[in-house]
Amino acid sequence: MITKFIKRILRRDPMAKHTQANHTGAPKRIPKKTHRIDPHLLSKNAVKVTDTLQQAGYEAFIVGGAVRDLVLGIGPKDFDVATNATPDQVQKLFRKARLIGRRFQIVHVTFFGKGHPEIIEVSTFRALLDNAGDHLAESGRILRDNVWGSQGEDAARRDFSINAMYYDPSSETVLDYHGGMVDIQKKTLRMIGDPVKRYREDPIRMLRAIRFAAKTGFSLEAATRSPITKLSSLLKDVPSARLFDEILKLLMSGYSWAAIQGLRDAGLHHGLLPLLDHILDSSEDSKEANQFVKLALANTDQRIQSGKSVSAGFLFATLLWPDLLKNWNANLAKGMANIPALQDAMDDTIATQSSAITIHRRFESDMCEIWSMQPRFEKRVGRYPYRLIESPRFRAGYDFLLLRCATGEKDTALGQWWTDFIAADPNGQEALMASAKNEVGNSASPLKKRRRRKPKSASTVSPTENTTS
Ligand code: ATP
Ligand code: MG
Repeated sequence: MITKFIKRILRRDPMAKHTQANHTGAPKRIPKKTHRIDPHLLSKNAVKVTDTLQQAGYEAFIVGGAVRDLVLGIGPKDFDVATNATPDQVQKLFRKARLIGRRFQIVHVTFFGKGHPEIIEVSTFRALLDNAGDHLAESGRILRDNVWGSQGEDAARRDFSINAMYYDPSSETVLDYHGGMVDIQKKTLRMIGDPVKRYREDPIRMLRAIRFAAKTGFSLEAATRSPITKLSSLLKDVPSARLFDEILKLLMSGYSWAAIQGLRDAGLHHGLLPLLDHILDSSEDSKEANQFVKLALANTDQRIQSGKSVSAGFLFATLLWPDLLKNWNANLAKGMANIPALQDAMDDTIATQSSAITIHRRFESDMCEIWSMQPRFEKRVGRYPYRLIESPRFRAGYDFLLLRCATGEKDTALGQWWTDFIAADPNGQEALMASAKNEVGNSASPLKKRRRRKPKSASTVSPTENTTS
């Protein structure tokens, strides 16, 4: 769809080649017949916000990623508005408006309708940073940032040219300060200004570059790409919570596998998630882990692209599973019982992850529930299956089991048994449990036998084959 659009715009915009040079001063004004934004893709609430601000005498535009997506013919996932009104002035105009942020105040205007509430983020045009001032840390990272500026300055503060366009819904005009339209035509991601300086100001921009390249299929312009590997160590100065948010966006972008490959190619993956180090090295050892994570991410991408929801807890549970499995097996090899071995492995895995980036607590608890549920899928007699099916996170645990079956870590018959059990009536469920009991009987209680044996080596045991405790 994107390619079709680009061909169309190349045919239609006679002035396209002149826009690139317009880096400062007046923006290029792009009319409707050229940008061809489909008004149906606009959020009514975002338009309400720009209309209200304009009627009160302020300038107001839809800005950033929303304009980029609209020009590409994609429905934006959220809408930001930029204005010359100060946060206080914005707040006075809306009933449900909340000032947020300390470093740079913005206003969240909330609209309640059918479905989820929609938040429109309204920010006041930002001033350019003073290089010599005390806004920057020694590394060049922005520390303080609370001065309002003109629209032109605001545009120069944005990251990529394609993210620095302003759309006025009332005149249906796009204002383009940095040649974003031409870059869209050229399928190029280009940092505004000097890329090295911009990455030093905010190293997160390196991760954003990789995420947008994966999402749009655009290439990074040479000067935008080349400093990244050398500057990758700057990421260690970024607060962990911000890094986590960006990683989450990357994983939830619908193009996570491509983005992770992009991180590896740019040498950015080290220290973000231990599992990335692990899965992205192509040794024989990591082949299975690679396979598991690849399938998990492909599933996630597919769900997101088809508009379905994805749980971050589930996603992290899959990404850290290969590490957990390794720790669990190592504990079993040391002679620990199955469940304590799992608990201990969970603690270790989370501690290693936290040394790089801390996963938000609520995702962490989802993740632990999914993991702890796994050995319980082995118990298919008595009250166990009924109790398991009633646990609130059963569905996530079951999906996780299916993933393990799909990658060959568990026998597909186990996943199928649960699929049948969920669908069966009470008689069918009894019959299924009887058949499971026979299986256990036939294998003469594998776990008891195995316990007495010397443990297998860490790399060959599948912990959940061990079904006691
Ligand atoms: P998406 O919402 O699809 O992930 P986006 O471009 O809208 O992409 P946001 O994080 O919502 O990303 O940011 C909105 C806009 O704010 C961006 O388009 C960009 O103009 C600006 N922006 C965001 N983060 C930065 C940054 N780190 N440096 C410079 N500008 C930024
Ligand atoms: Mg956005």
